[in-house]
Amino acid sequence: MQRAPSAAAQKSPSWSFAMEPWRTLLVLAVAAAAAATPLIDQLAPGQEWPARSSVGQPGDSTKEEIKVEDVFSGSTNETAVEEVDEEAFAKAVITKEVDLTKDEITKVDYSGAQVWKIQTNKRSVVAVVGRLRRRNLVSTWGGNHTHMDILVKPNAVKNVTRAFKRENITYDVLIEDLQRRIDEENPPLDENELSLQDRRGHKMTWKQYHRLEDIHQFMDYLAKTYPSIISVNSIGKSHEGRDLKVLRISDGKPTNKAVWIDGGIHAREWISPATVTYFINQFAENFDVESDDVKNIDWYILPVVNPDGYEFTHLGDRLWRKNRKPQGTTRVCFGADLNRNFGYRWGGKGSSNNPCSDIYRGSRAFSEPETKAVSDFINNSAVNFTAYLTYHSYGQYILYPWGYDSVVPPDYQQLDIVGKDVARAIQQTGGSEYSVGSSSGLLYPAAGGSDDWAKAKGIKYTYTIELSDTGRYGFILPVSYIEPVARESLAGLRVLAAAVNKA
Ligand SMILES: [Zn+2]
Repeated sequence: MQRAPSAAAQKSPSWSFAMEPWRTLLVLAVAAAAAATPLIDQLAPGQEWPARSSVGQPGDSTKEEIKVEDVFSGSTNETAVEEVDEEAFAKAVITKEVDLTKDEITKVDYSGAQVWKIQTNKRSVVAVVGRLRRRNLVSTWGGNHTHMDILVKPNAVKNVTRAFKRENITYDVLIEDLQRRIDEENPPLDENELSLQDRRGHKMTWKQYHRLEDIHQFMDYLAKTYPSIISVNSIGKSHEGRDLKVLRISDGKPTNKAVWIDGGIHAREWISPATVTYFINQFAENFDVESDDVKNIDWYILPVVNPDGYEFTHLGDRLWRKNRKPQGTTRVCFGADLNRNFGYRWGGKGSSNNPCSDIYRGSRAFSEPETKAVSDFINNSAVNFTAYLTYHSYGQYILYPWGYDSVVPPDYQQLDIVGKDVARAIQQTGGSEYSVGSSSGLLYPAAGGSDDWAKAKGIKYTYTIELSDTGRYGFILPVSYIEPVARESLAGLRVLAAAVNKA
């Protein structure tokens, strides 16, 4: 299709934030002033994505903004916040720090580690687990009001068993040999699949958990193959310099709604990028025959929010959660929990100020380049998002705000109804049962999540989706689960798309 990009689009320095964002904005502002400002409906599909500074969009000025006092008001609430524990510091993490730039990388070995599901019906449980965690004998994987999944570290099994016996805490061993599960989780593709890969034009499959390079090449391949509906832009770079690649699927209709989807904010949750890329593949390869609900939406999809952490889970530590930026001043630990680093009520319950903690919230809101890039993109974009879906694992939950405390937004009943419709569609397609509720109510309060921030920005259908399973494999979900999980999740996404079109 022949199309004539406007002067502004040609001059616009694309979406790369290789420069500091303020410089990018400055250049954009100059470019916009120098050329006639195009209206959003003059942008052809595949053309530069509309930026707020260059594209007029009704209602821009009324968009809800986060107040500074809101960003910091949570910081005085320290009740559930871990304080820095010198003892835990000294014993450090079991993981050896790994230099990815060196050829020889030692993988963290989980031989002897187990995963247990414990009942949390006793008052003493939280205190006991807290103590064991501070002594670095266990770490927590997941849980809710009735149970908790914990990783019992190598050589700690005896001690932890004794502690639980003493307190009469009951538990089941979910994973007896964690390292064996890790070794069996992601086997290489067979000959047949490899030959198919060559013919397909990209390496992506849903029979394996792929490295970042394969995911990015797959996205670029789709943009090249379907330029009239698909474009790919990097919205910024990770701490280690990897691209944060967003793929847009849009037929360019000015009446389209917009939906944001991301995955892989927590590095070890491999099923998340696998599922999100499955959505991309389905929509891209079958766009012509897709439902109107799908075609009437501009999809913005970032499959890996935390590429440094994701690569680290492949090369260094399979169970890494955070990003990989060095943190702390006196003693350095790696990584902030990106899903505690967003700027709405940042610093409150369920987040830690200890740089060595798995839920370290960062030194301030948006201190991490990955969260900053996502928020800059959404703040500076002229796109009015109707939904913000962020995919995690595990537990099979569809969660809506708020996460920072046990309160719900005014329209929570609508969020609940749509969430339950989504859950029903998933169950009817694949049989997996999802629980629906507010994240603080169903799980526990956790401040600084991306969903709270998105909701505070006024994005209506904001959900955190915790994919399969419910703990049998936990984060180490075998590759045979990818297609069933992704397929049923897509059925849920279609129901969400229908709700977005009615909004
Ligand atoms: Zn997660």
